[in-house]
Amino acid sequence: MWQIRPGLDTIKSYHVPDIAWPVKLDANERAGELPPKVQAAITARLAAIAANRYPEIGQHSLKQALSEGLGLTPGNIAVGNGSSEVLAALCRVFGGPGRKIVYPSPSFSMYPIYCLLADSRPVTVELDAGFVLAPEKVFSTALQEQAALIILCVPNNPTGGAMPPEAIEYVVAGARCPVVVDEAYIDFAGNSVLGLLGKYPNLIVARTFSKAFGLAGARVGYIAASRDIIDLVGKVLLPYDVNAFSLAAAAVAWELRAEFAAGIAATVAERERVAAALKELPAIEVFPSAANFLLVRSARAGELASFLASRNIGVRDFGKAPGLAGCLRVTVGTAAENDAFLAATEKFIRGEV
Ligand SMILES: *Cc1c(COP(=O)(O)O)cnc(C)c1O
Repeated sequence: MWQIRPGLDTIKSYHVPDIAWPVKLDANERAGELPPKVQAAITARLAAIAANRYPEIGQHSLKQALSEGLGLTPGNIAVGNGSSEVLAALCRVFGGPGRKIVYPSPSFSMYPIYCLLADSRPVTVELDAGFVLAPEKVFSTALQEQAALIILCVPNNPTGGAMPPEAIEYVVAGARCPVVVDEAYIDFAGNSVLGLLGKYPNLIVARTFSKAFGLAGARVGYIAASRDIIDLVGKVLLPYDVNAFSLAAAAVAWELRAEFAAGIAATVAERERVAAALKELPAIEVFPSAANFLLVRSARAGELASFLASRNIGVRDFGKAPGLAGCLRVTVGTAAENDAFLAATEKFIRGEV
């Protein structure tokens, strides 16, 4: 028999159906195409890339642009293939055999995978009723378990709620380990804790270009943290890791970030419109969201997901995930996509099908 790495048999692969839904509300991607100005600038920038050359070894152009915008230095930034890769790198830096990594549940389904791939032990803190995370519980669990790393997801995927900055600061200030705040959806919420980086050397902020910035296909994400942490992450990320095309696309999106403001505001307004319309329906519960998706709960969620699928609308069914029985996550799409979702859902709930 082959000698497979010990522990690999305990890891479930990440599995989502790969369906090109005409109304695709299953992956929290940006609603609609890129702003035309951004699309044109990316196309032009990509055309000028010398593909025979390796990308910049230090990813300096993107780090320089990010750090200027964020009021940091390039040495405070690490870039990866999506924030996924940088989060996984953090688990490799601080985790290892016997090390414990604390994160909430339900939350992002990749956290246990990053954790186990780093041979670390996942320790979950359950959300309370209404999917609220109690900072005291995170604090006391981390202390008790002598956690090596804490991951907070703000706003939390897939529940949508956002821990207030004071609650995050309470955890960061008290923790005896680094705390990474995954801000994948922060552009839809506001209240970033990035401003606390100077005060807490154990704080790490993770961001991505995959959601509000519409570059899910490019796979670029980053963390901002103290130089010490960035240097450690640099040891586990491979050189020339992120390709030149993706680095260039992200740099353009960041330079032109003002172009995304209108789309983000529209998504937030649509989120509130869809939530209000769902609240009018019987037998379906909708949770408050600070992100670009809504979590809904219904006794007939599975059937609803199938009905939506029959109408070419893809949503994410979390019914089998721990703590999420009867829950669907619906990405906020364009107004037309949201209308299609609302019309179909209303038909189903009112029993007209
Ligand atoms: C989408 C997402 C990410 C980032 O994904 P990448 O595409 O790898 O940058 C990170 N955390 C959460 C909670 C997400 O939902």
